Amino acid sequence: MKPLNNIVSHFKESIFSTMTKLAVENQAINLSQGFPDFDGPSWVIDLATKALQDGKNQYAPSFGILPLREAISANYKRYYQLDYNPHDEIVVTNGATEALYCAITALVNPGDEVVVFEPFYDSYYACLLLAQAKVVPVTLKIPHFKFDLEELKKSISSKTKLLIINNPHNPTGKIFSNHEIEEIAKLANEFDFYILSDEVYEFLTFEKNHTPTASFHSLKDRTITISSTGKTFGLTGWKIGWAAGNPQLIKAIHNVHQFSTFCVAHPLQVAMAQALANMDQYLLEFKRDYLNKRDLLVSGLRKAGFNVQNPEGTYFALAFLPDGESDIEFCQKLIKDKKVAAIPTSAFYLKSNEGSSMIRFCFAKKNETLQSALNNLGL
Ligand code: PMP
Ligand code: GLN
Repeated sequence: MKPLNNIVSHFKESIFSTMTKLAVENQAINLSQGFPDFDGPSWVIDLATKALQDGKNQYAPSFGILPLREAISANYKRYYQLDYNPHDEIVVTNGATEALYCAITALVNPGDEVVVFEPFYDSYYACLLLAQAKVVPVTLKIPHFKFDLEELKKSISSKTKLLIINNPHNPTGKIFSNHEIEEIAKLANEFDFYILSDEVYEFLTFEKNHTPTASFHSLKDRTITISSTGKTFGLTGWKIGWAAGNPQLIKAIHNVHQFSTFCVAHPLQVAMAQALANMDQYLLEFKRDYLNKRDLLVSGLRKAGFNVQNPEGTYFALAFLPDGESDIEFCQKLIKDKKVAAIPTSAFYLKSNEGSSMIRFCFAKKNETLQSALNNLGL
C-alpha cells in the first residue's frame, strides 16, 4: 500500500503514555504523567451532571457557549486587568492542546521560523512539524533555567513568525521574570513576530503570582494566550481550553477549530462557565493544597538524597541526577527497583543534552500516594 503522511509516520508515542504504561505494567506509583489521582471538586461535577440532565446535549456553538466566553473574559479582567471581548477575542477549544494546534496551524506557513524554549511540552514540536515550520530551540539553562539573551537574539531573524513560551513552565516549574519577558517583548516588536503563550498552569503558582505575557506593555496585540481548566480544576479529562487574542488572530484560529473539532462538549462548557465565575474561594484551597503537596514531595525527595529544585509553579518538581547517571536508564531503574515512575526530561529537548541529567516528578497526587512513593524511595 502507499505510504502514509511522511511527517506523521515519524511521530513516536508521547513520553507521558509510555511512562504511564510502564508504571501500570510494573505496578509502580505513577508520578510521571501530569494528572491528579483524585477527582475534581464535587460542586463542579454536580454542575456538569445538572447540565447533562437539563438537555445541554447537542452541538455547542463553534466559538464556545457565550456564558463560558464571558466567564473567561471576566476572569482575565478580574485577575489580571486584561480586556478580551467575549464576542470575538476568545475561542473555546478541546483543551489547550487543540488551541495550540489551531494557533500554530493558523499562523505558520512552511519554512517560517518558530522559536521555542526548551525543555518544551511535546505537542508544540508535533504541531510545528505538521505546519512544516523551521523549529529554532533556545535552551533554558540549568540550574536556574534562564535563557541566554545572546542565544535568543541569534535565534531570531526576519523569518521568525512566532515564539512559544510556556509560563509557568512545564517541566522546570519556572516562572519567567518580568525582565525576561520584557527582553522578549523588545525582540517581538523589533522583529515583528507573534507570541504563543501557554499559561495552563496560571493558577498553580506558589510564592509568586502569575503575570500573563499579554499584560506586558505592547505585547497584547501580538500575543495569543492559551489556557485551560484541566489543571485549575483537577479535571484534565474534561478538556476545556481556549485561545484569547486580537479578533483577526482568533478568527483564524477558529477557522482551524471549526474544521478540526467544530465544538467542545456542551454540558461541560455549561458547568465550566459557572465554575469559572465562582472560583475565588476554591482557588485559595486549591493553592494551599498544592503548596502542601509540593513541600511534601520536595522535602521528602531531598531526605531521600535527591537534588531537587523547588518549583515556583506547576505541579512538577525536577531532580538533578548524580554525575554519570542518565535520565532514561535512571527512570527505568526507578520503576523496576523502587516502583516509582517519573519522566525522563531528555524527551523535552531538541538541541541541548542537559535533559539527560534530570527527571520530573508530578505531585498532583493524594498525600498518601506521595508518601508511599517516598517510602519506596527509601524514606
Ligand atoms: N501545555 C502544557 C505546558 C501542558 O503541560 C499541558 C498538559 N496538560 C497542556 C498544554 C495541555 O493541556 P490540556 O490538557 O488542556 O490540553
Ligand atoms: N501535561 C501532562 C504532563 O506534562 C500530560 C498530558 C498528556 O498526557 N498529554 O505530564
